[in-house]
Amino acid sequence: MDTFIPKYIKAKQKGWLLKKIKQSSALLASCTLCPRQCKKNRTKEEKGYCSTGQKAVVSSFAPHFGEEPQLVGDKGSGPIFFSHCNLKCVFCQNYEISVKGMGQEADDEQIASIMLYLQKSGCHNINLVTPSHVVPQI
Ligand code: SF4
Repeated sequence: MDTFIPKYIKAKQKGWLLKKIKQSSALLASCTLCPRQCKKNRTKEEKGYCSTGQKAVVSSFAPHFGEEPQLVGDKGSGPIFFSHCNLKCVFCQNYEISVKGMGQEADDEQIASIMLYLQKSGCHNINLVTPSHVVPQI
């Protein structure tokens, strides 16, 4: 059986990662990251349907045991809850985070530090909740 290699590792090995980061970041200048197609200039802090500007906003992160057993294992899943959302589901159970935007802005290095913290904590995965509107930042 072949050893599993995550896509981001393959992208880095093939030299695609930086290109993908640049391409996705460029979308923020007239945002078409999601089907809302707001075309706001998020690099100038214009905000569209997701109420998010240049930087991602993180509400919380910590080993989490409330997911399906296959995701949690014995050390927990590693969620990062991103504030705001492009979906606005009426049944959202994280209203304070997704609608009210509870959280703090985090730059690239802070997001990386959070991921490394979750890894060092033994989490079996990095669990991005809900990340669609902050893909370039991630
Ligand atoms: S990510 Fe946000 S600003 Fe961009 S298109 Fe979607 S809702 Fe609009």
